[in-house]
Amino acid sequence: MAEHNELYLGYATDKAVTPFMQKFLEALDEEKLMMSKCTSCGTEFLPPRQHCQKCLSQCDLAEFTETEAKIRSFVIVDFAPESLSSKAPYVVAIGEFPSGKRLTAHITNLMSMPEVGMTLKLGYEHIDDKKLTYKWLV
Ligand SMILES: [Zn+2]
Repeated sequence: MAEHNELYLGYATDKAVTPFMQKFLEALDEEKLMMSKCTSCGTEFLPPRQHCQKCLSQCDLAEFTETEAKIRSFVIVDFAPESLSSKAPYVVAIGEFPSGKRLTAHITNLMSMPEVGMTLKLGYEHIDDKKLTYKWLV
């Protein structure tokens, strides 16, 4: 099985990562999502970025504490890449938190068609012992 070519919206813990990414993964393993904040201009990023998109300064990780969002946009993927073809059709949604921050993730427990404005809860999943991800739950 071509494990390292697998495409999924998640993170692998068995790849070489920076200390910044390692800290992000350790938090994710404890079901905590981290954002980052620029040490120079204070801009916040979710998912976290190591370097600020605006001023290129270093960012620090900070725990992201919001847990509920509303669907801002979504797509139903019918024609999935080969590695995800067994899961198709599946839904990927952009959720917007009350702070305005947005996050893209799979919705994994839909029982009906998604709708813009629907409430999403942030969830976590250990895909296997080396892969973790965050996801949306309805
Ligand atoms: Zn900055």
